[in-house]
Amino acid sequence: MRLDYVSIFPDFFTPLELSLPGKAADKGLLAFGVHDLRQWTHDRHRTVDDTPYGGGAGMVMKPEPWGEAFDELLTPATTVVFTTPSGEPFDQRLAEELATREHLVFACGRYEGIDQRVIDHARGVAEVREVSLGDYVLNGGEVAALAITEAVVRLLPGFMGNAASLVEESHAEGGLLEYPVYTKPPAWRGHEVPAVLRSGDHGKVAAWRHEQAVRRTAERRPDLLAPSVLDDGTPIVRATPGDAGELLTLQRACWVQEALANDMLDIPALHESLDDVRAWLGEWDTWVVRRAGRLVGAVRGRLEGEHTWDIGRIMVAPDLQGSGLGRVLLEHIQAVAPAGVTSYVLFTGAASARNQQMYKRAGFRLRRDLASPPGAVVLTKRR
Ligand code: SAM
Repeated sequence: MRLDYVSIFPDFFTPLELSLPGKAADKGLLAFGVHDLRQWTHDRHRTVDDTPYGGGAGMVMKPEPWGEAFDELLTPATTVVFTTPSGEPFDQRLAEELATREHLVFACGRYEGIDQRVIDHARGVAEVREVSLGDYVLNGGEVAALAITEAVVRLLPGFMGNAASLVEESHAEGGLLEYPVYTKPPAWRGHEVPAVLRSGDHGKVAAWRHEQAVRRTAERRPDLLAPSVLDDGTPIVRATPGDAGELLTLQRACWVQEALANDMLDIPALHESLDDVRAWLGEWDTWVVRRAGRLVGAVRGRLEGEHTWDIGRIMVAPDLQGSGLGRVLLEHIQAVAPAGVTSYVLFTGAASARNQQMYKRAGFRLRRDLASPPGAVVLTKRR
């Protein structure tokens, strides 16, 4: 990847020689070019700004120096990143996208910004992204360009010593913030490392981390837990303890049908009490759908060991069965599985033909080679 920076303060980019981007350049993954915009001016004062048409405070960056800079630097393979507070918000997804480009040119604004025609012109020559670092105003685009660079460069293949570090961190595929992390010593100034992290039980560690990540995300960034939405705009939202009563009712209604289809009453979902439902709500990642206030669908998932996502209790109110809601719930619970999950597992009644058909259509395979409770079958799918 090649990175070029155009700025009236090229000294801002000295840190590129340091730290992570510098390491990437040493490894041959990157090449940098830093350019003073004033080299493309032709007057004695090396002017890059002028007063705004229409009046108003401040100065605007003139188009001519930018035009000449772009004539030299841009090719059809270039992506020009204009740093601006009115751009699309920079996030991990955008970092991932930019990491796939072969040439980025960062155009760093100053004053009140760059004459709009520069951006319009660049669009005719190369790909253009207008990118904001966040909802605040900086004095210039240099710091934004450096931040974007650091987030992008660490995603380049071969850059991180351990690529797994990228999968598990905040804003990675699973969409959750990272869980709290600890190192030695086990006790420090009266604060203990949680016992589960020292238990050596990888399954328990993975489950604890997932639970902490969900909790932290819900507390600090509930917007990241934005619900999936059904075709008609109805959201799938995380269940709350207050949903326990309705879940119990829905569960009974659904599993009576299961009992009839399988000719057996010995099904746990049929016998659970309200306290049982409250208890599993605390242990499973449970999602519900409401229509006109009524709880009409639910699904739950949790980690079994480190890499398996156990899916269960897919329930759809009897009057909505066959509407596709079960399929959407199944897709949703797979999508919210933690990043380290490599396979899904679920159980259903051996004679529940309709359920089995839905799971098979969703890519699950019947696994007669695996143990299952009496009267049930197990199905699995690779992620
Ligand atoms: N008048 C502009 C506005 O209100 O949108 C702000 C101009 S700002 C003082 C000068 C330059 O700083 C911008 O052209 C842009 O390059 C950079 N900048 C400021 N805030 C930024 C942000 N949140 N993200 C990216 N770049 C920013």
